[in-house]
Amino acid sequence: MREQSGRFVDNDPILPLGQHTEVVLRETRRAENLAVRMISFRHVSRVYPSPGGEVHALRDVSLEIAPGTFCAVTGPSGCGKSTLLNLLGGLDQPTSGEISVDGLALHSADENALTAYRRERLGIIFQFFNLLPAMTAIENVELPLLLRGDRARDARARAAEMLELVGLTPRADAFPHQMSGGEMQRAAVARALVHRPSLLLADEPTGNLDSDNAARVLELLQKIASQRLATLIMVTHSPEAAAAAERRIPMMDGRLS
Ligand code: ADP
Ligand code: MG
Repeated sequence: MREQSGRFVDNDPILPLGQHTEVVLRETRRAENLAVRMISFRHVSRVYPSPGGEVHALRDVSLEIAPGTFCAVTGPSGCGKSTLLNLLGGLDQPTSGEISVDGLALHSADENALTAYRRERLGIIFQFFNLLPAMTAIENVELPLLLRGDRARDARARAAEMLELVGLTPRADAFPHQMSGGEMQRAAVARALVHRPSLLLADEPTGNLDSDNAARVLELLQKIASQRLATLIMVTHSPEAAAAAERRIPMMDGRLS
C-alpha cells in the first residue's frame, strides 16, 4: 500500500506498519473531533456566591457546537447568557465542568494560555461598536494588527480586505461620527475578524440598530458563517436576529431549554 503523497508507506524502513497505522488513525480521530465539536461544554455549572445565597447562573450545561456554525443564544434577562459568553471568552471559569474550544481546555488553561487564546483565536463584537472616535474606519480595523507588531503595509492591506468583505470600501476614510450605526457595526465586525479568529462572540450586535441596519449586519454575520470564516456565537433578545442564525440555543434559568 503506497499512497500518492507517500504518507502511508508499508515498507518504510524507519516506522513499521503498525506504528504508521496508529499515527494515521490518531490524526484522523483528532481531525474528526475538531470537525464535530469546535466548542464543547460538559456538565458546566457556574455558581456565584452572594450575600442572599448562591446564584446558580449556569446549571449543568452540556453543549456541542460544530465549527463555522452561526448560533443565537436567547432567553430572558438573568437566564445566564452573559455568563455563557464570558466562559467562552476565557474571562470567567466554571465552578464545575469542562469547556473546550478548538482543542483548548478553557477550564484548566493557565493565564498565559488564556491570554493567547483571547488575543489570537477570539473576536468580539459589542452592542455599542466600541470604535475609537479619533481613527478612521480603516485605522480602527488595522489597529489590532499594528498592536501585535505586523508591518504597517501588511496591516493596511489586510484591513482593506476586511472592509471589502463588510462592504465598507467606500467608507474606509470616514470617522465613526460620519458613519451610520450599521456602518459602525460593520466596521466593528471587520475589526473583530482582522486577525483571523476561529471564534466570534457577539453580545446583542443589533441591539442598537434600526431594522434596516440590523438586517444588513445579520446578513453579514450569515455570510461570515457560510464562508466558514469563524464560528459565531451571538447573544440576542431580537427574534429577527435569532431567526438569522442557523441554530438557536434557548436558555431558561441557567439551563438550556
Ligand atoms: P443574562 O446575560 O442572561 O441576563 P447573566 O449571565 O448576566 O444573565 O446572569 C445570570 C445570573 O447570574 C443572574 O441571576 C445574575 O444576577 C447572576 N450574576 C451574574 N454575574 C454575577 C456576579 N458577578 N455575581 C453574582 N451574581 C451574578
Ligand atoms: Mg447579559
